[in-house]
Amino acid sequence: MIGVGDMVLIEPLSEDTFIENLKKRFDHNEIYTYIGSVVISMNPYKSLPIYTAEKVEEYRNRNFYELSPHVYALADEAYRSLREQDKDQCILITGESGAGKTEASKFVMSYVAAVCGKGQEVNKVKEQLLQSNPVLEAFGNAKTVRNDNSSRFGKYMDIEFDFKGDPLGGVISNYLLEKSRVVKQPRGERNFHIFYQLLSGASDDTLKKLKLDRDFSKYNYLSLDSATVNGLDDAASFRTVRNAMQIVGFMEDEVQSILELVAAVLKLGNIEFKPESRCNGYDESRVKDKNDLKEMCELLGIEQSVLERAFSFRTVEAKMEKMSTTLNVAQAQTKSRKKVMGVLDIYGFEIFEDNSFEQFIINYCNEKLQQIFIELTLREEQEEYVREGIEWTNIEYFNNAIICDLIENNKNGILAMLDEECLRPGTVTDETFLDKLNTVCAEHQHFESRQSKNSKFLTDHSLPHNCFRIQHYAGKVLYRVEGFVDKNNDLLYRDLSQAMYKANHSLIKILFPEGNPAKVNLKRPPTAGFQFKASVGTLMKNLLSKNPNYIRCIKPNDKKAAHIFTDSLVCHQVRYLGLMENVRVRRAGYAFRQAYEPCLERYKMLCKQTWPHWKGPARGGVEVLLTDLQVPAEEFAYGRSKIFIRNPRTLFFLEEKRRQC
Ligand code: ADP
Ligand code: MG
Repeated sequence: MIGVGDMVLIEPLSEDTFIENLKKRFDHNEIYTYIGSVVISMNPYKSLPIYTAEKVEEYRNRNFYELSPHVYALADEAYRSLREQDKDQCILITGESGAGKTEASKFVMSYVAAVCGKGQEVNKVKEQLLQSNPVLEAFGNAKTVRNDNSSRFGKYMDIEFDFKGDPLGGVISNYLLEKSRVVKQPRGERNFHIFYQLLSGASDDTLKKLKLDRDFSKYNYLSLDSATVNGLDDAASFRTVRNAMQIVGFMEDEVQSILELVAAVLKLGNIEFKPESRCNGYDESRVKDKNDLKEMCELLGIEQSVLERAFSFRTVEAKMEKMSTTLNVAQAQTKSRKKVMGVLDIYGFEIFEDNSFEQFIINYCNEKLQQIFIELTLREEQEEYVREGIEWTNIEYFNNAIICDLIENNKNGILAMLDEECLRPGTVTDETFLDKLNTVCAEHQHFESRQSKNSKFLTDHSLPHNCFRIQHYAGKVLYRVEGFVDKNNDLLYRDLSQAMYKANHSLIKILFPEGNPAKVNLKRPPTAGFQFKASVGTLMKNLLSKNPNYIRCIKPNDKKAAHIFTDSLVCHQVRYLGLMENVRVRRAGYAFRQAYEPCLERYKMLCKQTWPHWKGPARGGVEVLLTDLQVPAEEFAYGRSKIFIRNPRTLFFLEEKRRQC
């Protein structure tokens, strides 16, 4: 074993020794390390020969600690408890952009697909589950500065199994698609893959039908400075995606509609407007060159005059409302209860120089995830203690509930205040929102300062005038309020959605339900913040009902390069992933536990009475062994099936004895 395979056993434990251990293992291509049952995964930025069919066999049905740490061990454990103990599982994958979350989720899925049932129907479902990835990635991933294949949305996928453990299908929920990328991409980044894939990979005939030109430079929405990406073959990907769409279950005409929509978005980006002064003194905008507009309307079956009118009343940034695929391939409905394995791949904490509404929302989600992490880890510990008949000792831990409350409280939480401001008549600006925050939170702080209720909302005079600051569990984050109100409103002008609803195009109609004239009198759609809070709530409930498995992904460097380990960068991630806290919780009770049989097997040579054979139950053997070695009684506890060892030193002592033998 290179370094220490389980951080719980590091002695002495400090941030330095923790990172040193990660580095040592990383240098030897050991990218996985445990904290108890949590898997830390370091992105190697090179392909390693550790995901072969042989590896799958190696990890299949083996105990977690028998082999070197691997994401397959976690997948195996999760799948086995799902099948054998009938416990729903969830796999929570977090980490910053480029840390390897999406790759990890794919390894988990392909492992499960490899070990679960076989047969024609089952294989079809498996294929569908696996092929949902290329489709989602085409429409939701993009090259960014941090990651050439960055997911611009959070994904939660429930894979459903029957009582035998055969997959039935899956349900995918998407969160927070970065819609604005369609219109504008930061320097050095691209738009969503699908645009480049379509132009590079579609046949001449298809492009002609879609009224498209193969040349990227013809389209305003396609950034040119990084249009081609090393190692990405857009044309080949297009074929993969087309094929995947078919396997997943899209009909040919549905695929066609989707591609028409993609083409229409490219056309839309080329439409330019010119101001036109009117005699009544108002300025109006007019479409400059009508060809793109005409073609867009032809693609979508919209009457040109209708769309032009909608455009002319207001010039708006075009946003693609929804490009999320909700995939439900659940096929057979068996009578017995379905078992579920949920896989969550979502942005980790984001602390940038410039943090806006998006970071605020993402970080809120991560606070909630941290909350359930603590809750579930403790609950799991507690349950194991009860199961094993061991007395529970309370563990002190940082509870981030007050931060969640500051954000989500229905009355005076930040999201509630933002909504209130967005719905208030009169002039609403980001500044009025900030004023309100400062007043309410500061007042609150004053009243309850002794309980420091809102001490997580930090106000001091060093703050720039347009910012607020929150003490997240992962650190202080400064948010700039610019854009909060607009982004929360997330409104598309009604004349536009109505124009789109009139389209003679089935997909477009579905995407703009609010354009239905019959719905005009309905209330305004819920705000972005409200929707997100609701979906986070649902997600949390869902996760809480399941047995959690954690993969914590870490990015070793900022260069997307193999072999480079930047200490400061890793240290930052270790902090905000709360990994030290994780080890501490794990060690607060009993750091190490092992079933009696393997324990006796490993150490029986240390005692005359147990060597070479112990007759009788293994537990008795372990008792004799530990007594004979004079390990202090407070150092361990005898559970029903396992021995619990409090301090890692005891384990080192045993290991040392073994070496001397
Ligand atoms: P995230 O989803 O966390 O943003 P990804 O999973 O997309 O990050 O990983 C970014 C890139 O890093 C991948 O495209 C791949 O090149 C590389 N990578 C990540 N994990 C691994 C791994 N286990 N082995 C090899 N390469 C990896
Ligand atoms: Mg990703």
